Amino acid sequence: MELPFSESYKIKMIETIRKSTREEREQWMKEAKYNLFNLKSEQVFIDLLTDSGTGAMSDKQWSAMMVGDESYAGATSYYNLKNAIKNLLGFNFFLPTHQGRAAENVLFSALLKEGDIVPGNSHFDTTKGHIEFRKAHAVDCTIDEAFDTTAIHPFKGNLDLAKLEKVLTENPIENIPLIVVTVTCNSSGGQPVSLQNMKEVYAMAKKYGTKVFFDSARFAENAYFIKLREDGYQNKTIKEIVKEMFSYADGMTMSSKKDAIVNMGGFIGLRDEDLFRKASVFNIIYEGFITYGGMSGRDMNALAQGLDEGTEFEYLETRIKQVEYLGNRLIEFGIPIQMPIGGHAIFIDAKRILTNLPKEEFQAQTLGIELYLEAGIRGVEIGAILADRDPITRENRYPQLEFLRLAIPRRVYTNNHMDVIAVALKNVFDRRDSIKRGVKINYEAPIMRHFTVELERL
Ligand SMILES: *Cc1c(COP(=O)(O)O)cnc(C)c1O
Repeated sequence: MELPFSESYKIKMIETIRKSTREEREQWMKEAKYNLFNLKSEQVFIDLLTDSGTGAMSDKQWSAMMVGDESYAGATSYYNLKNAIKNLLGFNFFLPTHQGRAAENVLFSALLKEGDIVPGNSHFDTTKGHIEFRKAHAVDCTIDEAFDTTAIHPFKGNLDLAKLEKVLTENPIENIPLIVVTVTCNSSGGQPVSLQNMKEVYAMAKKYGTKVFFDSARFAENAYFIKLREDGYQNKTIKEIVKEMFSYADGMTMSSKKDAIVNMGGFIGLRDEDLFRKASVFNIIYEGFITYGGMSGRDMNALAQGLDEGTEFEYLETRIKQVEYLGNRLIEFGIPIQMPIGGHAIFIDAKRILTNLPKEEFQAQTLGIELYLEAGIRGVEIGAILADRDPITRENRYPQLEFLRLAIPRRVYTNNHMDVIAVALKNVFDRRDSIKRGVKINYEAPIMRHFTVELERL
């Protein structure tokens, strides 16, 4: 008999989590103004709000923290991280930042001006926020298949080269300082980009005279999918694939809270020394001196170790198989999810579940509230609330897809937890026809409203 699959690690430390009653959850949800971000973590049994900064560090990462060097300038921890980035990703220049959006802030301060256009594959919300905050425009060039949750495509994160070329030829190239390729593409469901596509996008950027930057939060999960799905990569290691991926980028921004399995941190990787100098000025203003940029020495050490562990096949296989396990359980129950199953999360197609609800009543948010009330499980809306208003017309933007995202933290929950999640969602799914009304907004911030929005049940 073939041995079943199991995790490539064992557990050394545990953290207690607590179940609650439906009555308690009703009360807490009301107090949180139906915004899942407002719940206290103690009010949550299984927390799938995000896989960002929520991973469990390894014994090696914890021990690396103990030998962190907290010198202001030139710390050994900085050089550990610099070497890890150089060896693994191939970038000669790097700037540490306190997290991914800080890297975007620093890079875009050096690169973007009002009126600029930044094409890409479904920009992540903070990326889009930083672009629009500078009165520049993010243009989505993702392939059409990404917007059909039932379409099976191995690389739904790919850019449509015809759409990209149209943007590059119809606008003055000096207004397109960069193309952002997000690997994996978070907003379209944790879907990977193929190496072939990276290569073609890079070639097109060079042909028209612009730069390619990778938004790299889940670069290792992307590499795992390349190894499994793209011809010619089966026998390459994840580290070899990663090296090749980044050879098709002029630079990168990184939220280390994802694939580098640390709780906080980010960085920018660059090839061009002039841009490094320019960005360094903003790094010093916003983040800190260029050898720490908002990170403690111990955190840079843990990050250097995390980059190495996060690009090991055995770890990635454990991680992605768990996401797949949950996805397959939901499929068994007939619950519609984004297919194929992505790397870090399951994206539940709320539009196809709460068919009674108009989009103005926020289907994905409503589903998220119901799942929390059912079992204390916290997901997150990736739908119209997140999509925000158009910066010019101020009209609500209703995206093609209304997802409830269940992000799986790295090395944190077991498959027993996955079973609880699946059954809780099945219970909500079975009573979907009784959910007749959604929510309305009572308060929203002018930008990135989803974090602080206050809602009312209709
Ligand atoms: C998380 C994330 C960011 C922002 O990073 P933070 O560390 O949360 O600031 C940017 N891009 C992508 C694709 C992400 O997943």
